[in-house]
Amino acid sequence: MDYNHEHKADRIGWIRAVVMGANDGIVSTASLIVGIAAAGIAADHLFVVGLAALVAGAMSMAAGEYVSVSSQTDIEQAELALEQQHIDENWTAEVHELAAIYRQRGLDNELALTVAKRLMEVDPLGSHARDELGITDLSQSNPLQAAFFSALSFSAGALLPLLTVLLFAPAMLIPAVVTISLLSLVILGSVSAHVGGAPKIKGACRVLFWGGLAMLVSMGIGYLFQIPA
Ligand SMILES: [Zn+2]
Repeated sequence: MDYNHEHKADRIGWIRAVVMGANDGIVSTASLIVGIAAAGIAADHLFVVGLAALVAGAMSMAAGEYVSVSSQTDIEQAELALEQQHIDENWTAEVHELAAIYRQRGLDNELALTVAKRLMEVDPLGSHARDELGITDLSQSNPLQAAFFSALSFSAGALLPLLTVLLFAPAMLIPAVVTISLLSLVILGSVSAHVGGAPKIKGACRVLFWGGLAMLVSMGIGYLFQIPA
């Protein structure tokens, strides 16, 4: 029998970031476009407004991602430096600290101490980082790279409703933007669920609901604040 026990968690991190960026791009740009279209703005202005939404959103994603990854990295670096200092100053206490963690996880006293001693010989900082601090990946993620990829994935998502504006006649614009955006959200949601090994229908329904709600609310606000012709 074919025994497939491959885990997909290591792929999920960056897929999640890319899908989230593209989702954001589709939902926020489409909502903005249908919102101001509903308010009665002339159709030939919609492209510029959508383009501004794309640029603003992409820059905001880049800034947010840069700040978030940088501060996460700073916190982890500080914790690791402190841990290294503890290890340098008090080796024995750190061995016992590690052994206590393994006892809590169910090893008996002697085995816990043996494992702790051995791991401290192999990689003192690494074993404390993993088992005490919960930092599993000592290679830090690059904040500039993270910023670039979220801006890029947001822009890719935002392009879908934006190009729809160019392709359809003014009368068809709102239904076209809503349909194409919801369709791309569903495809994106089920593809990412498939790659991550999660249930597809569930993932698709979630993005469909939240994307639809965002556009509906924006449209409602647009109809409330009609622009005088
Ligand atoms: Zn420690």
